[in-house]
Amino acid sequence: MGKALIIGCGGVAGVAIHKCCQNSEVFEEIMIASRTKSKCDKLKEELEGKTKTIIHTAQVDADNVDELVALINDFKPQLVLNLALPYQDLTIMDACLATKTHYIDTANYEPIDTAKFEYKWQWAYREKFKEAGIIGLLGSGFDPGVTGVFSAYAMKHYFDEINYIDILDCNGGDHGYPFATNFNPEINIREVSANGSYWENGDWVETEPMEIKKEYDFKSVGMKDMYLLHHEELESLALNIKGIKRIRFFMTFGQSYLTHLKCLENVGMTSIEPIEYEGKQIVPLQFLKAVLPDPASLGPRTVGKTNIGCIFQGKKDGQDKTYYVYNICDHQECYKEVGSQAISYTTGVPAMIGAMMIMNGTWTGAGVYNIEEFDPDPFMEALNKWGLPWEEDFNPTLVD
Ligand code: NDP
Repeated sequence: MGKALIIGCGGVAGVAIHKCCQNSEVFEEIMIASRTKSKCDKLKEELEGKTKTIIHTAQVDADNVDELVALINDFKPQLVLNLALPYQDLTIMDACLATKTHYIDTANYEPIDTAKFEYKWQWAYREKFKEAGIIGLLGSGFDPGVTGVFSAYAMKHYFDEINYIDILDCNGGDHGYPFATNFNPEINIREVSANGSYWENGDWVETEPMEIKKEYDFKSVGMKDMYLLHHEELESLALNIKGIKRIRFFMTFGQSYLTHLKCLENVGMTSIEPIEYEGKQIVPLQFLKAVLPDPASLGPRTVGKTNIGCIFQGKKDGQDKTYYVYNICDHQECYKEVGSQAISYTTGVPAMIGAMMIMNGTWTGAGVYNIEEFDPDPFMEALNKWGLPWEEDFNPTLVD
């Protein structure tokens, strides 16, 4: 059916690329382009002979618009799937605009020097994408991503208005290290060391980092401590889902992770302010990333399951209604299938599905959209087919 350019070749990209190669009817030809070309070549070698998808590789600096434009003009893909880091979102969007190519990512743009987790920079491209006749699909991972699809699905089928959403992200996996992050350490630590916040009655309520703690009994995982975090999809869901009074996001963390994080914070290792070291400017958090295990290496050692989903409360035909929809994913099953743990898997699969929705013309339009703005049904079907089946509960335990 067509060609896709995939930028980045880390944990999430590895899964998305495996999935594109399982779906070669849609992804007939892909180009894997990243900063370190040897990683792209290694993956190509691993996959060739096992797929009908034709794989090309290239080196690209995704901070450089001209390089990206040259690559796109040369390969002529229908879309660019951005699986590099949030810092590259705008340069890749600029290159897509210049070449009139659809754009997809899994994380909001982040300026390198401030942790913001907000959409305003990317929403500013709406008119330009509309004029160019291309789609910019923001946040096609799990959260953001599937959580937005779940919200649109709940709204479409079960509610007249949704008043409360709690997004619960539980990782019951164990990698055996005292401290490691499941996806890019720099982005992960920026996210969890920032202030928490939630949306209530039209405004943000800010909390200290990890100030709000709850317990929840997750199916297939058990009782876990979870903490309220700010998360980017709260911003778009508050606008796109009708009737919202409050949206919160909770993520589970084990005690060892939190103790290490506190200690690293206390000694200044999680700071994104550059410091001078032996005559060179370094960012402590980037240095920390360099000494932590590569998330892509956690696959063989991670056991247990993830359980990520959304609890909705609202009204249907004047009656109160509650609905919980979630996915349970097993780290070792993911590793057997694509050589990655479940965090990369639960992000990489929806990235491939989002790309497929545009490549095969299921989702059409022109402009910049968050995922919940599209029809959720074909995406929900694809989740079941491509490895992330979901379950429903119409009488769930609520978060107090
Ligand atoms: P990794 O660090 O494993 O991979 C990032 C990749 O991007 C690496 O291959 C890296 O190259 C490449 N890269 C970085 N900078 C550039 C550049 N300037 N030019 C070209 N390539 C570059 O990250 P993850 O795979 O864990 O995460 C990928 C994205 O997914 C992130 O944006 C993350 O925030 C997002 N994510 C989203 C989730 C969701 O549910 N929505 C959940 C988890 C992650 P090199 O190999 O040289 O370092």
